[in-house]
Amino acid sequence: MTDKIIRAMDNQGLIRAFVASADELVSEACERHETWSASSVALGRMLVGTLLLGENLKGRDKLIVKMVGNGSGGAIVAESNANGEVKGYIQNPFVDLKNTKTGEVFVRQATGNVGQFIVIKDMGLKTPYTGQIPFVTGEIGEEFTYYLMESEQTPSSVGLTVKLDMEDRVQTAGGFMVQVLPGASEDTIAFIEERIQKMPALSQLLKDEGTDGVLDALFTKGNYRILEEKPVRFKCDCSKEKFSRGIATLPKKEIEAMIEEDGQAEIVCHFCKNKYIFNKAELEEIAENFS
Ligand SMILES: [Zn+2]
Repeated sequence: MTDKIIRAMDNQGLIRAFVASADELVSEACERHETWSASSVALGRMLVGTLLLGENLKGRDKLIVKMVGNGSGGAIVAESNANGEVKGYIQNPFVDLKNTKTGEVFVRQATGNVGQFIVIKDMGLKTPYTGQIPFVTGEIGEEFTYYLMESEQTPSSVGLTVKLDMEDRVQTAGGFMVQVLPGASEDTIAFIEERIQKMPALSQLLKDEGTDGVLDALFTKGNYRILEEKPVRFKCDCSKEKFSRGIATLPKKEIEAMIEEDGQAEIVCHFCKNKYIFNKAELEEIAENFS
């Protein structure tokens, strides 16, 4: 099954929902970063949350979400764009904290319970929009929910899940974002709140019934319309050329030192772990273009 985000609306037009199925992209991210249990779940949830939050991006807009907390995972960063592409990393990919009997992963020990949740929207303007709020609990879905309530002043709920198998490989990953639109009554809000509370485990729903199962659980069967289905994937926009421009910003002396000491430079992308090697001739060319 390909990863996707479904946009749907209840038949009354008062509640909208986005549901993501992201097994493959979270698997790819975890393989690239060689993450261990708690780091896998934390990174995966951030990637899905950032895709969901980035659903209204247009053109070349970018959305960057950072969680910088006191957990052992360190900072977690994810970036998505209007094409449904997402990339990300966790500072410490090797946090392994789980109950080996039940398989429960202790994600909050990776994220921490004190920290900052930071959202940067780059819409091509001079200054990107930045919003920053202290952690409410450090639980990733709750941070996204709280951010939406604060920034958009609309009742919202975000649920995120990454379920690992016995070998700590990603089995199911996905999530939902629900927003109550202006004009909805208290009854409508109470209805959706109750549906969310009574929802069966998200990972199980996604695994057994896919995104339709989640929408049925949210709205009740037949009580919604699907408006759009969009493929999503892990994709990094790094390239050798981009990094060569990066090297070119270094002092010329430093580039010359690289040539002299190592005869080459090796750069690994934070977001995707792709490795780029610049040989002596390439470095000399960059240094040359300087002067
Ligand atoms: Zn990259």
